[in-house]
Amino acid sequence: MSSGPSSPGPPESSSGHSGRPGGRPRPWTGWRWADAAFRSGPRVVRVLAPNPGPMTLEGTNTWIVGTGPALVVDPGPDDEAHLAAVLREAGSIAAVLVTHGHPDHAPGAAALAAAAGAPVFAARGLPGWERLRDGREVEGGDAILRAVATPGHTADHMALFEPTLAALFTGDAVLGRGTSVIDPPEGDLGLYLRSLRAMWALGPRVIYPGHGPVVWDAGAKLEEYLAHRALRERQVLDALAAGPRTPEEIVAEVYTDVSALLHPLAARSVLAHLMKLEAEGRVARLGRPPLARFELATPAVCVRCGAPALPRSSYCHRHSLEVLQEGPSVGASPPPARSRGPESRPGGSVEGGHDTSLTT
Ligand SMILES: [Zn+2]
Ligand SMILES: [Zn+2]
Repeated sequence: MSSGPSSPGPPESSSGHSGRPGGRPRPWTGWRWADAAFRSGPRVVRVLAPNPGPMTLEGTNTWIVGTGPALVVDPGPDDEAHLAAVLREAGSIAAVLVTHGHPDHAPGAAALAAAAGAPVFAARGLPGWERLRDGREVEGGDAILRAVATPGHTADHMALFEPTLAALFTGDAVLGRGTSVIDPPEGDLGLYLRSLRAMWALGPRVIYPGHGPVVWDAGAKLEEYLAHRALRERQVLDALAAGPRTPEEIVAEVYTDVSALLHPLAARSVLAHLMKLEAEGRVARLGRPPLARFELATPAVCVRCGAPALPRSSYCHRHSLEVLQEGPSVGASPPPARSRGPESRPGGSVEGGHDTSLTT
C-alpha cells in the first residue's frame, strides 16, 4: 500500500462521476483510518477486527460514523477485545448496523449493542433487532445512514449511505481490493449487477468497504466492478462457443493466471455467471450437478413466423397473443429444438483481465 499525500480528497464536482481525478490513498495509520480532512461532515473511523484471511483480507472493517452518539457499522466477530476497542473509540453509540449476516460481520452486534444499550438494525437478524429495509434511515448524533438494498453477495445484503459525505458503506458488496464473492445459490449475479448499478446511481464519492482500504473514487470503482463482470461473462461465452463445458473446464481455460488453489472458488464464480446466463435464456444446462455441463442456447425464434421469440416461449409477441386467443387445442406446437451454439472459435486463450488477487 503506497502512502499518498494527506491533502483533502477529490475536489467538489457537480458533474456526477465524470471529471474526478484518480483516487488518492490515505496514509495508513495502523489499526484505523481517520477521515477528518476529507470533507466537513461526520467523522468516519475504522477499527480493524482481528480476523484476517483470504476472504476477509486484513480483517473486517468496523466503521464508527459520527459522534455524540455514534453509529457503528458491522461490529464483526464476537471478539471481546475488538468490541472493547470499538466502544472506546465510539464513546456513546446510537445504533449498531449490520450489512449482512455473514460470520465476519454480524456476530459481534448483540454483545456490542448490549454493552452500549443501543438497538441493532439488520435486514435479517435475531429477535428484538430492528428491521433494516431499503430506504430506512437510522440517525446518530451528527450522522444519518440510509439503507440501500444490495442483494447479490447474500439475499439480505444492505449498503448504508451517509448523505453529507456521500459515503457508501458497502459491506461485502464492494471491497477495497479484489472482487466480491458471488457464490450460488446464496449468491445471485443478476441481482448483484443490479445492486452495483443502484449503488453507482447514488453518486457516492467514497466507499468504506467491509474489507480492505477505503476507496476514494467510488464511481470509478463501481464502474471497474461492472466492467470486470462483463469481461468475465464474455470469457465464459467465448469458452462455451467451443462446445459444452463444466464450470471447472471453463476455469481451466479462462483463469490461467490464477493459482490452481483458487480454482474451486473461481468455479463458483463461473457457475454464478452460467446461472445468470441460463436465467436470461442465453445458456442451457445439460445434465445435473455435479456433472452438469453448459452450452450456448440458440436464441429461440417464433415457430410461426421466424421472428425472435419471447423469453421461454415458442412464439413472438404477436403470435403468442394469437395462440392465447385460439385456445389450448390449437397452439400446442412443440418448441423449437435447441441446437448447438455458433461455430466453434479456435483456441481458448483469452488475453488480459486475469485476476491476480485472491478473489474472483
Ligand atoms: Zn459476506
Ligand atoms: Zn465479509
